[in-house]
Amino acid sequence: MKDAAFLPFNVDCLHGAFVPAKNGGIPPSTRGYWLLLHGQGLVVPDVPGIALPYGEIPEEMGEMISSRVWLGSWRGEPCWAAEIPSDRSLPQGYRRETLVPMQGTRLPDDLLSLGGIAMQVLWWESTSRHCPRCGAETERIGGEWGKRCVRCKLEHYPHLYPAVIVLVEDGDRVLLARKRGWAPGRYALVAGFVDNGESLEAAVRREVREEVGVEVDDIRYVGSQNWPFPSQLMVGFVARYVGGEVRVDREELEDARWFLRDALPDGPSRHSIAGFIIERYARRRD
Ligand SMILES: [Zn+2]
Repeated sequence: MKDAAFLPFNVDCLHGAFVPAKNGGIPPSTRGYWLLLHGQGLVVPDVPGIALPYGEIPEEMGEMISSRVWLGSWRGEPCWAAEIPSDRSLPQGYRRETLVPMQGTRLPDDLLSLGGIAMQVLWWESTSRHCPRCGAETERIGGEWGKRCVRCKLEHYPHLYPAVIVLVEDGDRVLLARKRGWAPGRYALVAGFVDNGESLEAAVRREVREEVGVEVDDIRYVGSQNWPFPSQLMVGFVARYVGGEVRVDREELEDARWFLRDALPDGPSRHSIAGFIIERYARRRD
C-alpha cells in the first residue's frame, strides 16, 4: 500500500472505477449494480464468492425498499444504493456480508469502499430530509449531494465528523489503549473527535492528555481514512511522548500501557487506519 489514501473506505481504493452521481438525476436505466444495505451489511447473492446483485433490483427486494439513490457509476454501469429494513429477513438466495472490519468482514476492499460510500450517502439522505434550522423540507442542490431548505434557504452539505487518532512513541516503546468490550488482549490507538475551535494538533494533545494522562509533542500527520460508521474522517498522527505518568480515563478506556516495539499485542484490523499506523509506525524495523 502506497499510503493511507488506499485504505478501504477511501475512494482511492476504487482506483477510478467509481464516478459519483452528484447531480442526483436518474440515469437512463434502472438496471445496474445494487448496494443493498441491511444494517451494517451488504446483501449479496448466496453463492460461492462475493459479488453485487446486478440487473434490475431483485424482485423480492424491490418491495422492501422505500427509496433508492443513484450513487453513480461503477465499472461504467449505474450503481444504486437502497436500504432493506434491518427487521426484515432476507429472501432465500441472498445473504448478508458485514461491512464492519472489527466483525471480520470478508468483503474485498473495493466492495467495502463502495459499500461504505453507499452507507454514508443513505445516512446523509436519512438525516437531511428536514432543515436543521427551521424544520421545513429540503431539496437537493443541483450538481451536489447538498440540500437546501425550501423555506429558509439554508444550505447544508454531507456531514463528516473529524476525529484524530494517534500513536504515542517514546524510543523503543509505544503507548496503546483498549476499550471495554474489545476482544481480549487487543490494543489500538487513542482517538477522539475534534472540538469547536480546535486545530487537529490541539485535539491530539487534548485527547492524549485526557485519555491517558501524558503530554506529547512533535505531532506528525501520517494519513487519513473516511470511516462510514456513520460518517467520520479519521485523521492519523504519530506524536512523541514528552512527559507524564500513564493515567487511564476509565470512562473512555479499559486500559492503556506502554509496549515494546518488538512485543506488540493483538492490534486492530488491517482495514482501519489504526491498523495501518501500528503496522507502519509502531513495529520495530531492523
Ligand atoms: Zn429552513
